[in-house]
Amino acid sequence: MKYYHSTRNSSISVNGAQAVLQGIAPDGGLFVPENFEKLDLEGLFSLDAYGLFARVLCALLGGWTEREMRETVVTGYRGRFETEEVTPLVTAGETHILELFRGPTSAFKDVALSLLPHFITRAAREERVTDEIRILTATSGDTGKAALEGFRDVPGIDIAVFYPRDGVSPVQKAQMVTQEGRNVHVCAVDGNFDDAQSGVKQIFESVRDRGLSSANSINIGRLVPQVVYYFSAYADLVKQGRLTPGAKLSFTVPTGNFGDILAGFIAGELGLPIGRLVCASNENNVLTDFLRTGTYDRRRSFYRTLSPSMDILISSNLERLLYLVSGDCELVASLMQQLKTDGFYTVPAELLEKIQSRFWAGCCGDEATEETIREVWERHSYLCDTHTAVAWNVAQQYEKAAESPDPMVVFSTASPYKFPAAVLSAIGAKCDGDEFDMMSALEKATGVAMPANLRSLRERSVLHTGCVKPGKMRGYVLDLLEGKT
Ligand SMILES: *Cc1c(COP(=O)(O)O)cnc(C)c1O
Repeated sequence: MKYYHSTRNSSISVNGAQAVLQGIAPDGGLFVPENFEKLDLEGLFSLDAYGLFARVLCALLGGWTEREMRETVVTGYRGRFETEEVTPLVTAGETHILELFRGPTSAFKDVALSLLPHFITRAAREERVTDEIRILTATSGDTGKAALEGFRDVPGIDIAVFYPRDGVSPVQKAQMVTQEGRNVHVCAVDGNFDDAQSGVKQIFESVRDRGLSSANSINIGRLVPQVVYYFSAYADLVKQGRLTPGAKLSFTVPTGNFGDILAGFIAGELGLPIGRLVCASNENNVLTDFLRTGTYDRRRSFYRTLSPSMDILISSNLERLLYLVSGDCELVASLMQQLKTDGFYTVPAELLEKIQSRFWAGCCGDEATEETIREVWERHSYLCDTHTAVAWNVAQQYEKAAESPDPMVVFSTASPYKFPAAVLSAIGAKCDGDEFDMMSALEKATGVAMPANLRSLRERSVLHTGCVKPGKMRGYVLDLLEGKT
């Protein structure tokens, strides 16, 4: 049996099923595995994508056989993702790009959120939960839709998504407000993502034991599938003869809540030879500053950028990194308390040094983002979205700064068709219509096919129009729990 404990108190310990069901630990900490088992790297290279998912997931979630896990993985992905590889690796020039957006809602969140409902359903069975489970989710744009699509009409589960009213792209918003399903609730918040995420965390703290769980990366069940594609990128490069088994591979990850990049750190703990994890931020560069100086300071302006899914100042999963590197719950609890009361904290010098030996950080503004989209398109005929462009740009910064950089994989986290206005203007094309016209114009200008799920968006009816102030989120959820809405 595999156990998890809170980052803030190691005596708060639960099994995998309980961790997935609770989402967040009762003391406000996040669940982390108590230990990591090293995987046999060579043994992974002969597996297909589904087999690789099964092997790595079994190492992280206790209580499954590899065969059961494979069945779940096949159910989650086959026919729902564009390819059986799930996350294909492509190469442009010297750079390898891991395409994480080939799922049902065209963002990387689909990889985890196609499996999480299965994890939760099974956990509920194991723990003999008979009451309805409520999933509460805050989204910076992509998690919301991916979670709605993953959980729609799953028996015994009900889902509510909160998104920042003016903080998501028009396509992202259209995806969410047209969501069908008898168990889905979608509500705008009059605030930014941090307001929505804090609101959800507070509801968790105040409304315990009412069957609430989370689809955000605070839930360990949401995080673990993201570990797998670090291994799949590595295995693909080995199979293509571009990487010697055992050699180090670096990754650049466009980062917001620090979930995706933390999954890379966990992959390293399982034995994957990682060079550096390069953390790429937009103008909201709180993580760049932290990874360079050791001071995390959220007392700064919040910017709305062209890469809205990374417009975040409070990166939840950094808490897990602080624990995994220091092994010190008391330290983590006190840093998180400082962040809450003072708005900043500074980590001890030796902790920073350890973190810096694994991570590198950089950021890029909107103008550089657009330039990068244009450059990558003109040089390599590869069309990338705004988040991927931030990562590409920062990967280049890293390669200039590093003495002998290892081969690099850049994560591509969303389809360019989710951000058609920015991408279209970046490549110098014009269109005067609305976002839907821009999607068609982008397809015409580039010849890159629009994903089917986005093509049908314009015709769908708007089903969700609610909007609440951050202070009213709790009331909204209580009404749902009482069955009033
Ligand atoms: C969520 C998201 C990110 C950031 O991922 P985190 O796990 O929050 O760091 C980057 N790009 C896109 C497109 C996203 O949707």
